Amino acid sequence: MQVSVDTQKCIGSGMCVLHMPEVFDQRDDDGVVVLRTESPGPELHDAVRESAIACPASAIHLVES
Ligand code: SF4
Repeated sequence: MQVSVDTQKCIGSGMCVLHMPEVFDQRDDDGVVVLRTESPGPELHDAVRESAIACPASAIHLVES
C-alpha cells in the first residue's frame, strides 16, 4: 500500500491522526496533515483505509499493491 496526502485539500480536522497516529501527524502551526510514512506495514492497512474514509476532505489517497 502506498499512501499520499493532499495538503491543499486538508482542513486539519485531525481524524486521520485519531485513527492512525503511526502514519499521520499534523503540523503544529496550522494542523495540516503530515505523512509519517508512505508505505505502512500490512498490519496497519485496515486502519489506514478507515482513516481515508473518515477524512472529511478526501485528502488521503491510497494505492493498493
Ligand atoms: S482527516 Fe483529512 S482533513 Fe483531517 S487532518 Fe487528516 S488529512 Fe487533513
